[in-house]
Amino acid sequence: MLTCRTIKSLTQCLKGYRAAGLRVGFVPTMGFLHEGHRALIQESVAHCDITVVSIFVNPAQFGPTEDLDRYPRALERDHELCRTAGVSLIFVPDASEIYPPGFQIYVEPGPVAEPLCGAFRPGHFRGVATVVTKLFHIVQPDVAFFGQKDFQQCAVIRQLVRDLNLGVEIVTVPTVREPDGLALSSRNSYLSSADRERARCLSQGLFAAQAAFQEGERDSQRLVETARAQITEVDQLQYLELRDAGTLAAITGLVERPAALCVAAYVGTTRLIDNVLLTPPPTALADHELELVSHVINRQATAGAEEP
Ligand code: AMP
Repeated sequence: MLTCRTIKSLTQCLKGYRAAGLRVGFVPTMGFLHEGHRALIQESVAHCDITVVSIFVNPAQFGPTEDLDRYPRALERDHELCRTAGVSLIFVPDASEIYPPGFQIYVEPGPVAEPLCGAFRPGHFRGVATVVTKLFHIVQPDVAFFGQKDFQQCAVIRQLVRDLNLGVEIVTVPTVREPDGLALSSRNSYLSSADRERARCLSQGLFAAQAAFQEGERDSQRLVETARAQITEVDQLQYLELRDAGTLAAITGLVERPAALCVAAYVGTTRLIDNVLLTPPPTALADHELELVSHVINRQATAGAEEP
């Protein structure tokens, strides 16, 4: 496994792979890797000839009062996880490598970045879209892997690839969870043990709504209320909303197309997000809707053991 710290050395390393016609998979991360990241890496290793992982805590996606300075880092442990997972190349640039002095052009996402996290983290998805565009140009992957846990991020990136013709296949990998349901996140390391206990209610609420949906409930308000009834232990609920899984448009009335129930909340001083897909049976879906969710559906079928 090679480690590159500069764009120049990465480009040099990748040249040989590309000349050999190898399929390049890419997993962008901010490090402090866990089993969720490993699932993305495993998907890439399984479907690509070489896998590139970037570890970069992107300052452009943090607000001025957010946790950029205290974001957890463990580079040695990350290297070990990558090595054992079969990664070919790690890209670990300094901030000045990605944003050199004089940097001034950003990628501005549209309405897909406005609701949910976009409403509570102004500029966040502008930072994400900018760094992902840059990383795609630097790595030039055939396919890139993102986690369903950051559902809106996946939607923004799919839109970005479409609108800017980036020519990268995007694969969404289902959320990996702790045995009690909590979605794995680097930020879980901030939680005290009491907060960690309370954080369980987020996934419990989402699963309750998912169960109701599976039993036939289609009323969006009742589904949200079912989840809310369980999400009682958080300190501040930022949003709990049902959104169209493709456009992220708000859903009112009946859920007849693939939807995502998305939540963000503070537990203590830690901001956590999570979501579940509510997917009508495939027979009830139009072709383009089926295409949208089929990847996640297929993966959920094989990763089912991880879901509580
Ligand atoms: P991050 O390092 O938090 O920026 O995440 C890097 C990638 O890992 C993103 O595509 C995330 O969506 C994904 N990811 C983070 N947590 C999980 C999880 N629990 N399950 C699956 N993917 C995840």
